[in-house]
Parts: sequence; structure tokens; C-alpha cells
Amino acid sequence: MNIIVTGGAGFIGSNFIFHMLAKYPDYRIICLDKLTYAGNLTTLQPVMDKPGFRFVQGDICDREAVNRLFEEEKPDVVVNFAAESHVDRSIENPGIFLQTNIMGTAVLMDACRKYGIRRYHQISTDEVYGDLTLAEDVAPFTEAAPLRASSPYSSSKASADLLVMAYHRTYGLPVTISRCSNNYGPYQFPEKLIPLMLVNALQDKQLPVYGTGMNVRDWLYVEDHCHAVDLIIHKGKVGEVYNIGGNNEMRNIDIVKLICKELGKPESLITHVADCKGHDMRYSFDSTKLQNELGWRPETQFAVGMKKTIEWYLANKSWWQDIINGK
Ligand code: NAD
Repeated sequence: MNIIVTGGAGFIGSNFIFHMLAKYPDYRIICLDKLTYAGNLTTLQPVMDKPGFRFVQGDICDREAVNRLFEEEKPDVVVNFAAESHVDRSIENPGIFLQTNIMGTAVLMDACRKYGIRRYHQISTDEVYGDLTLAEDVAPFTEAAPLRASSPYSSSKASADLLVMAYHRTYGLPVTISRCSNNYGPYQFPEKLIPLMLVNALQDKQLPVYGTGMNVRDWLYVEDHCHAVDLIIHKGKVGEVYNIGGNNEMRNIDIVKLICKELGKPESLITHVADCKGHDMRYSFDSTKLQNELGWRPETQFAVGMKKTIEWYLANKSWWQDIINGK
């Protein structure tokens, strides 16, 4: 099987490549990544020389380059992780989010139509459902919930989801979509909550928490996400959407306090900074469908996943220090 993995030099995409190469030694994995600020070739160094792996630097919005790659590799499956992924950056500059997250998705699916494909899989997010207030006692969002995105990031992902389903209905493209909650684990760029707090705490820097820190997110260890995507591309039903959740809702402030405790740092490093309107209060969603249909379960308990993550950031200081130093 030939699989094009876009955005594979980023956090989740690289973990997915490691997972796939380890589990399916006879597969060919082709990583297409533009190497934006969030892409890091150092991350892929351990697999660069593997015979079943090829890295190609390129933009998913570049129709010619994408078509050329499809012509060369004749992929069976495309898994699209490539995206601008940081909510705060989308609030400052939405344009690139619309370009990559929506137009890039269309370019990839056009190539899938042109060259034929067994499966196009879109990596999406729970953020497309919008948020709940802390007080709301409602059933968690299922795949049938309406899309109610709050930020330019989540609305670009929701738009892409609509486009993916439209390509399925209009052109019969064999697609699946997965919507995952917040991931954490090795190789996450230190602008997202957990790695940012980890690297700041390790440097005795302030730990900036938005608002009161009461915002609730559902956290999933990245390897569990990779396993779910692996199951969906092999066994998921074409035309379906699958939620992937950790069933582990936590307040941001509690995560930051946990990091202080684990690293032996004082909570006085925590500073509260103004929150902004595009930030959601709480996500809560239901991944029963994936559990019932494909037998998936989140296997890594939060305490275990956090321990592994902290150990990884302690053992790989040069990885994040090079990012901080702009290398
Ligand atoms: P990331 O920012 O760490 O990585 C994104 C990767 O995409 C980078 O390697 C970057 O170079 C590449 N990229 C960006 N624009 C590109 C383009 N135009 N062409 C080719 N490559 C491009 O992101 P991540 O956290 O690994 O997220 C991956 C996917 O998972 C995204 O689609 C995101 O929306 C989704 N997702 C993330 C989370 C999370 O908690 N991080 C949760 C749910 C869903």
C-alpha cells in the first residue's frame, strides 16, 4: 500500500508516520510537507533513510506539484494532516488558514479524483462543533451535531469537512473524516498548551494561562489518535465521520498545575493573561461510534501519557531548544 501523508513533519503527522512504518514494514509512506514554521525535518530524521519512506517538500495548495507526486507515487490512500493548526495565529492572520486548510484540501481531493484513490482521509478536529458553557449539562456532541465553529481556525477546518463530504456526494470520492480532541505527546511544537508550559517551566519562565484557566479540553495521547486513524483508513466506512476523543476532560489550569508539580516548579510561575473571543470554553464530545464500529479505545491514561510526554521533553531538549532559538 502506498500512502501519502501530508503535514508529516508536524506533531501528529510525524507520530502517525512512525506508527505506520513500525506496524506495516511493507507499506510505502510518502510525506508531503511544506515545512512551515511548524514543520521540522529533525523530527523525521529517524526514518529518513528507511527504504519504505520518502520525504517531499511541497505545498498542498500547489496543484502542479501535488499532481506530479500523484503521477509518480500512484497512492492508494491519502491522509491529510497538513494544516495551519494554531487558533491564536488564525485570529491574527486568517488568510493562510483559509488557503491551506480549505483550498489545499480541495487540491488534494482533485488529485485523488484525477488519479484514482482507494481512500482520502481528512484529519479534522472537535473544534468544528463549537463549544459549550461550563454550566451546560447537555449530551456531548456526536458526529450528527451541527458545525458551529468559533475561530478562523475551526471554521476553516469545518469548511474543509463540508468540502470533503461534498466531494463524496458529488463525485463519489471515497472519503472518511476523523474529528479528534486535543492531542499531547512527543514532538508537539511549543506554542500549544502542554509543550509551551513544559518548556517554559523547564526554563523557569512565566506560565501564561488565558483568563482564569477554567477552559475545559478533552485530552488524548497522540499515539491513541494515530491508532484510531490507522483503524479508520483500513476498516472505516466510506462517507463516514468518526469522533476520536480521550474521554478525559480537564481544565487548563489543572494541567498547568500538574506540570509545575511534576517538574518541581512553583505555581507562582503561573500568570493569567487576557482571554480572547475566538477561544472556546469547553469541548465535550462522544466517540461511541468509533468504539462500537471499529473497537477503538483510548489506551493511554492521562497520568501515564503526561509522564511519557514530560520524559520526552526532558530527554530531547535540543529538539525544542533549536525551535526556541529559531534554528
Ligand atoms: P502542526 O502544526 O504540528 O503540523 C502541521 C504540519 O503541516 C507542519 O509540518 C507544516 O509544515 C505542514 N503544513 C502546513 N501548511 C502546509 C501546506 N500548505 N502544505 C504542506 N504542508 C503544510 O499540526 P498538528 O498539531 O500535528 O495537527 C495536524 C492535523 O491535526 C491538523 O489538520 C489539525 O487541524 C488536526 N488536529 C490537531 C489537534 C491537536 O491537538 N494538535 C487536534 C485535532 C485535530
